[in-house]
Amino acid sequence: MARFIFITGGVVSSLGKGLMAASLAALLQARGFRVRIRKFDPYLNVDPGTMSPYQHGEVYVTDDGAETDLDLGHYERFTGVASRQSDNVTSGRIYQQIIAKERRGDYLGATVQVIPHVTDAIKEFARAETDDLDFVLCEIGGTVGDIESLPFIEAIRQLRNDVGRANAVFVHVTLVPFIAAAGELKTKPTQHSVRELTSLGIQPDVLVCRAERPLPEGERAKIALFCNVPKEAVIPALDASTIYGVPLQYHAEGLDDAVLAAFGIDGAPRPELRRWDDIIDRLENFEGEVTIGVVGKYVGLPDAYKSLHEALVHGGIANRVKVHVRWLDAELFEGAESDIAAQLEPMHGILVPGGFGERGSEGKISSVRFARERGVPFFGICLGMQMACIEGARNTAGIAQASTTEFGPTEEPVVGMITEWMTAAGLEKREAGGDLGGTMRLGAYEAKLAGNSHVASIYGRTDISERHRHRYEVNVHYREPLEKGGLVFSGMSPDGELPEIVERPDHPWFIGVQFHPELKSKPFDPHPLFASFIQAAIKQSRLV
Ligand code: GLN
Repeated sequence: MARFIFITGGVVSSLGKGLMAASLAALLQARGFRVRIRKFDPYLNVDPGTMSPYQHGEVYVTDDGAETDLDLGHYERFTGVASRQSDNVTSGRIYQQIIAKERRGDYLGATVQVIPHVTDAIKEFARAETDDLDFVLCEIGGTVGDIESLPFIEAIRQLRNDVGRANAVFVHVTLVPFIAAAGELKTKPTQHSVRELTSLGIQPDVLVCRAERPLPEGERAKIALFCNVPKEAVIPALDASTIYGVPLQYHAEGLDDAVLAAFGIDGAPRPELRRWDDIIDRLENFEGEVTIGVVGKYVGLPDAYKSLHEALVHGGIANRVKVHVRWLDAELFEGAESDIAAQLEPMHGILVPGGFGERGSEGKISSVRFARERGVPFFGICLGMQMACIEGARNTAGIAQASTTEFGPTEEPVVGMITEWMTAAGLEKREAGGDLGGTMRLGAYEAKLAGNSHVASIYGRTDISERHRHRYEVNVHYREPLEKGGLVFSGMSPDGELPEIVERPDHPWFIGVQFHPELKSKPFDPHPLFASFIQAAIKQSRLV
């Protein structure tokens, strides 16, 4: 049976609980254990799919088509274990299921209550599909003391008794703030947070103490004494210069040893950390630098493009170069052409990422044009590919009115909404004016690449599977004029109906993809498109 590690957070949010969970899982994996990480989100949205990236950062999409919290991206990048729908649940989804059951009459007249019905549903979720694992790490979103997280805290308290005390461990992540006026780190918020947790019936086994300064031994001992944990289980956690240094740092502070000790596991193999040492070596001892301009809409909040940023870093790891990312607001490119040139000339590569809505689209289209005309490496992702097709239609195929139906009715729908498409399970249909939640083409779909294409040489094969999240598609009926204009459809859905990749053979590096390759990139296994794009940017940096 799998053992459970429950991760809670105290004092404030944004303590890096997700990174801690991902790092701990990576360390256990490095000792040969089979791991999976799950996230419980206390909010009432059924999933984060309809939430603004400004509210909640990127929506991470799994192979099986779930729209999930961005922490699942960290989990996958750190462990290589592909996340699934069953790894992320919200209060909203749990209530939706319970209310549907109640309406069907499945509760046979019983009063439906938080305990036991909601807590049972949470426990069922935590335990589902865990037979082949050694450790399941469950991260509880939010901060202990929040009203919304109470049913989750109660469920994990019960779960420890259900699985046996030796099979569950509680890790609590807290803050030890530095108070400048006193010149000291303060342990009181941690003490209060642990007291709050114990009042809910949970005594943490391991405390991860986020701090800006090294935690003096005396303070560590004090936390151990007041919070009722062994001193070795008080783990200081200082900021790291790169997130990929976090697993090594936690290992040096004894996190994985403390967790194994809390389970009473002795003699586990030492972790094999060469993979992480190599990543750090490549990040620190880089041999060049490139600057990539990302022309997007949500540039004020880097979390909105979390996976994209990481995939660019991975491209740098693959080529041993440091990647500087400049977040450029597409709307600022909607003025005079000269402004665009001044902003984009210093870039060694231009990337137009995924996005929704019309705002900034003309600026994105102008950036595509700049990259095409100047021969600067261009990478268009999802909406970015759609913009590349509209740019090509307007400026190389003579279709001046080219647009997408996403922005309103158009005479020339080079990008349009599809209402039917094939999945592995058969024909999928939707209504043009239907629900927004969970109704996109979501998750892994296959594509066939043209044998002689640039993308086929980058992937090294012609059958690929990548993750999608979009409602609109490039209209295959415009293939001929676009190809005449030099924009070749080099990747298609297996039925030949949906354009998946476009490229310009007469350009050093110009590729648009309808899917999100950034979601599958890993520091130890950089995505080939990002590795190749950064390689092209290195060549460009030698020219400018
Ligand atoms: N808004 C576009 C669509 O729905 C692109 C989506 C995206 O970039 N993820 O098709």
